[in-house]
Amino acid sequence: MTPSVELSLGCIADDYTGASDLANTLTRAGLRTVQTIGVPADDLALPEVDAVVVSLKSRSIEAGLAVTRSRAAEKWLRGRGASHVLFKICSTFDSTDAGNIGPVMDALRADCGEAVVLVTPAFPETGRTVYQGNLFVGSVPLNESPLKDHPLNPMHDSNLVRVLAHQSKTQVGLVDLAAVARGADAVRARLADLAAKGIGAAIVDAVFDSDLETIGRVAAAHRLSVGASGIGLGLARAQVAARETRPNAADAGAPVGGPAACLAGSCSQATLQQIANAEKIMPVLHLDPERIVTGKDEAKRALDWAGPRLADGPVLIASSATPEAVAAVQARHGREAAGHAIEQAMADIAEGLVRSGVRRLIVAGGETSGAVVDRLQIPGFLVGAEIAAGVPVLRAVGAREGDMLIALKSGNFGGPQFFADALGLMR
Ligand code: ADP
Repeated sequence: MTPSVELSLGCIADDYTGASDLANTLTRAGLRTVQTIGVPADDLALPEVDAVVVSLKSRSIEAGLAVTRSRAAEKWLRGRGASHVLFKICSTFDSTDAGNIGPVMDALRADCGEAVVLVTPAFPETGRTVYQGNLFVGSVPLNESPLKDHPLNPMHDSNLVRVLAHQSKTQVGLVDLAAVARGADAVRARLADLAAKGIGAAIVDAVFDSDLETIGRVAAAHRLSVGASGIGLGLARAQVAARETRPNAADAGAPVGGPAACLAGSCSQATLQQIANAEKIMPVLHLDPERIVTGKDEAKRALDWAGPRLADGPVLIASSATPEAVAAVQARHGREAAGHAIEQAMADIAEGLVRSGVRRLIVAGGETSGAVVDRLQIPGFLVGAEIAAGVPVLRAVGAREGDMLIALKSGNFGGPQFFADALGLMR
């Protein structure tokens, strides 16, 4: 394999939505970023980019498996030239008692020979700050926040030095806010002290955005860091300032042409409003959820409906319904069975639409988007401009069908004219 580009930043994210959030943050900070779904094939052809975020689902799986997958991701990223790898975790440090943050950090540290790993989940713009090693969620310590009752990863200790030491084989130290506030040299000196004592990881305090920039400058010269999108932002700003980016790289938003279609599986208030507004500008088909759940071929009906219309402009196909209608379907068939059947029907429709030439696809609904992306087997996405906060235009990378633009929206995201806004940016 001949790597087509040398990455300046590699990231491994322990869940998909966290990966998207990081990829979007890096893009906004000026790094051209691809998010991949899982560890990519060795021969994945990348456009010219600065950063790749490999999305794993490794937050709550067995620790050994999380380690194996993360190491494979690291190997791929280093093979593409990434000198720094960020292991992206949740900004609330979500982890099970056995990890997986500590075990993955230990394995990656051993693989790259890092003396001391910088660790901080701080992301002040979303209310995550770290002081004296204690993580705050808004104004309360982590162990008093709703995370104390999380169904998979309840967090009972806000002292991250203690939490990480419990999970890791190495000793864990602290770089406190006083050092961070004094600047990059003070942080480097503190890390050197810790490394000299054989301490292999340091929780780094950060309360303000400027702290992340200091941390990013220091981390950029290391091989490995662990943190949330906040440290990603710090690393991106450090790289942009050092002009390691490629300003003339291909444009994620360059037109692809071809037919456009929208799919809505979200039943959120925001999406229902967005669909009502879309009815004024494009043909809309409302699926019959009852027919989907009882195995009637609604997907075929939808594709037969869309087929002749696609040449005339975008169409929207929606399963979305009011809370009362959703409750009625769920009462008859069960919440999970109904949700799953409808998601799969949406995936069938997406597959059929792409087969009949659709190259611009907009999907509303988090689970719905997951089902569609899995079905289309797209290896990765180059992240483009934001349609709405947190919803970028995505250009498929390595897709069987070639060039394609996609937007994936969680239910509540986007303004009232979301579908029109998206189509405006996806030419
Ligand atoms: P959101 O981002 O708003 O949570 P999701 O796609 O994640 O949207 O979740 C919506 C869920 O509701 C999916 O499982 C979807 O299949 C299901 N669903 C969609 N339409 C209906 C409907 N009419 N009745 C019952 N469930 C539905």
